[in-house]
Amino acid sequence: MCDPTLADCPEVAKVPDFWRRLNLSERKFLALDYDGTLAPFHPDPMQAFPLPEIPELLEKLSQRSDTTLAIISGRPLKEVLELLGDLAVVVVGSHGREVKKSDGSLTAIEPTDKQRTGLKAALHLAVQEGFEQHLEKKIGSIALHTRPLSPHRAAKLENIAFAKWSALAQHYDLECMEFNGGVEVRCTGRNKGNVLAELLDLQPSGTFSVYIGDDITDEDGFREIKGRGIGIKVGEPTTPTAAVGFLASCEEVRDFLRAWSLSDPTPVPHPG
Ligand SMILES: [Mg+2]
Repeated sequence: MCDPTLADCPEVAKVPDFWRRLNLSERKFLALDYDGTLAPFHPDPMQAFPLPEIPELLEKLSQRSDTTLAIISGRPLKEVLELLGDLAVVVVGSHGREVKKSDGSLTAIEPTDKQRTGLKAALHLAVQEGFEQHLEKKIGSIALHTRPLSPHRAAKLENIAFAKWSALAQHYDLECMEFNGGVEVRCTGRNKGNVLAELLDLQPSGTFSVYIGDDITDEDGFREIKGRGIGIKVGEPTTPTAAVGFLASCEEVRDFLRAWSLSDPTPVPHPG
């Protein structure tokens, strides 16, 4: 059993009874963001690989009979699968718009005609500003990536994109959001919280559920899991967030996954 006094069982800051509760639960559900959670940031997003050992730990967790695992990312699904490998678990991309179920079947939620028109206009505006090389087009959004730029230039581009896209967004059922490393204009009506709610609904009652993420878009997930499980933010415990627990870094997430993978499956009580 994973004992919180053991050195390799990381403390979940502000949730002192985390491991005790996990160990008392017969069924467990764990949903994880990708960037900044499983993978440290990299100036080239396609070089942001998971920390060593994490793919093996996810594989191990996916094979546990007591644990259901899901990955929920803002990236296009294709990129998550390329970087993480194709696990037999639910993998969600584009903030909930693309879903690969554990059996491999795929679903995608397309933007409405109005949203499509808005995204086209947003793209046009960004290209006019000369941002083309920093843009990423996804199924329901356009992201401006500024990580490779100097802080001064990054802030300048983000401010321009945020102002231009925000003015446009309200007319086309879009919303403009900052994230760690840029700004994104995306379709409303679908976010990490919606998809997390659907996944939580599929779990048997009494399941011990956890969502871990690091960024602004994960706040939808933290709000959704309130009252149904535990939201854990990757970052300092002083960060304003709807999460209740904290792990300091991707390294701590790795240690957390290792501890979960080593925990004893809770025996199913037999009647009588
Ligand atoms: Mg993230």
